[in-house]
Amino acid sequence: MNSSHTSLPRIAVLATGGTIAGEAGDASKTSGYKAGVLGVDKLLGAVPSLSQVARIHAEQVASIDSKDMTPALWATLCTRVNALLAQDDIDGIVITHGTDTLEETAYLLHLTVKSEKPVVLTAAMRPATALSADGPLNLLNAVTVAASRASWKQGVLVAFNNQIHCARDVTKTSTYAVDAFRSPEGGALGWVQDGQVEFQRAVVRPHTLRSPFQISADLPVVEIVTSYAGASRAAIDAFVAAGVKGLVIAGTGNGSLHSALQQAVAEAVRQGVAVVRSSRVGAGHVMRNGAAPDDALGSITADALNPYKARVLLMLALAAGTASADLQSVFDTY
Ligand code: ASP
Repeated sequence: MNSSHTSLPRIAVLATGGTIAGEAGDASKTSGYKAGVLGVDKLLGAVPSLSQVARIHAEQVASIDSKDMTPALWATLCTRVNALLAQDDIDGIVITHGTDTLEETAYLLHLTVKSEKPVVLTAAMRPATALSADGPLNLLNAVTVAASRASWKQGVLVAFNNQIHCARDVTKTSTYAVDAFRSPEGGALGWVQDGQVEFQRAVVRPHTLRSPFQISADLPVVEIVTSYAGASRAAIDAFVAAGVKGLVIAGTGNGSLHSALQQAVAEAVRQGVAVVRSSRVGAGHVMRNGAAPDDALGSITADALNPYKARVLLMLALAAGTASADLQSVFDTY
């Protein structure tokens, strides 16, 4: 789709699938549909007013349910984003994605995209065929954010339900509500409505051009283990035996571990596995040597990253060859 307004910013819309491209046989259905079936032209065609906001270049990068996202597809997507942003005739990128793993992809790109230009992810909670589908307005708002000069140098953003979130902070918090995305610690960065974009706070942690991490299709294997009442060490032992390079523990409370896990963590670290303590709580940071003795265990704390984002950072840090003595500072920085 191209507009005649040649002075408008040129935004690349990269589609990957998700519910925003989902189709159900019945308009009253908001579950039990098939995600990722409609092509990018259909998504754009549902929003004619996009041509007032930007000149659109569209690409279909994938057509998946984002529950099936892979590091290989991350690499394809990130490589394409970096290539497009290096072009003088592209001013920003919008990525349409499923909501399930959107926060993981967003944080990965936040650390591996090498550009100051805007990169904005968006999605939908209701399929495109639903009554009150939320995808078209989310797409219009995401393109509006990507086309705004205010969005430069902000890292990777998520535009959803009129809010603008930082990729590092945002997380999915509802299985069904259209305001599913929140940034539990700092709140949204700003808002977008009726063509206006406003940022109300700045991103502090380094990202994009100030992040040393590079995308790779061959990320080291890092798995996640949860602590809970009656947890056993069986999962940790199985992952270590399978040869993982890293483990993220989704601990209780302030990243506390069942004593059975604590013992297994100490042994895993001795065998050269990097272990990061995060929390399953959904908000707040994990204090080093707080609810578990990290110095004695050899574990790293995840700061405010949830387990899924801590896994992304650990994979990138291990891929970069970060020494175990430097891993805590990586988590304290990014
Ligand atoms: N399962 C879908 C996906 O993540 C959910 C959604 O997009 O809302 O692709």
